[in-house]
Amino acid sequence: MARYRGPVCRLCRREGMKLFLKGERCYKEKCAIERRNQPPGQHGAARRRKPRAYGIQLREKQKLRRIYGMLEGQFRRTFDDANRRKGVTGENLLQLLELRLDNVVFSLGFATSRSQARQVLRHGHITVDGRRVNVPSFRVKPGMEIALRERSKEIAQVGEAVEFSQGRGIPPWLELNAGALSGKVLEAPTREDIRFPIQEQLIVELYSR
Ligand code: SF4
Repeated sequence: MARYRGPVCRLCRREGMKLFLKGERCYKEKCAIERRNQPPGQHGAARRRKPRAYGIQLREKQKLRRIYGMLEGQFRRTFDDANRRKGVTGENLLQLLELRLDNVVFSLGFATSRSQARQVLRHGHITVDGRRVNVPSFRVKPGMEIALRERSKEIAQVGEAVEFSQGRGIPPWLELNAGALSGKVLEAPTREDIRFPIQEQLIVELYSR
């Protein structure tokens, strides 16, 4: 699966906010946004042009795409899917992104970041309703049960990630069984459940140009 392989803190600095792409480091003083919150590059700090409407819409789309670690093609296909559904397109988009299995694995605290969640999935450590699933874009549905495989619980790296991530809190649309390291999707997330500051309407406007 194609993915971005460059330096990720650079992406946060470009967007001017924490995108939480690097796991534990994002919660420490070492975070690049804490130390040097300015756009990357030699002249990053000097860029002060007033952004135009297109630039603002583009940045909002890039921000959301980078939070979920998706390439443009995948993201666009998810947007098209959201656009075909009933309801508000922007909210549909956020909901579809939240329902990705890699996001659910991260939200349940089985990984310290979405990229680590993808790795955990790719290595076959996750089951959905008892069956092994290794596709990060798999879309979960209400009622599904997501769990770490028994053998995987003994892997030190997985254990450390779980231990670190448990303090983050679980979104209200998910239920965690911390003892069994499994979780359940209670319902599809609503707009209020998605807390990071995104103006999804700007993304809809961008793709409607
Ligand atoms: Fe972003 Fe995390 Fe790097 Fe901070 S440490 S800049 S939040 S990826």
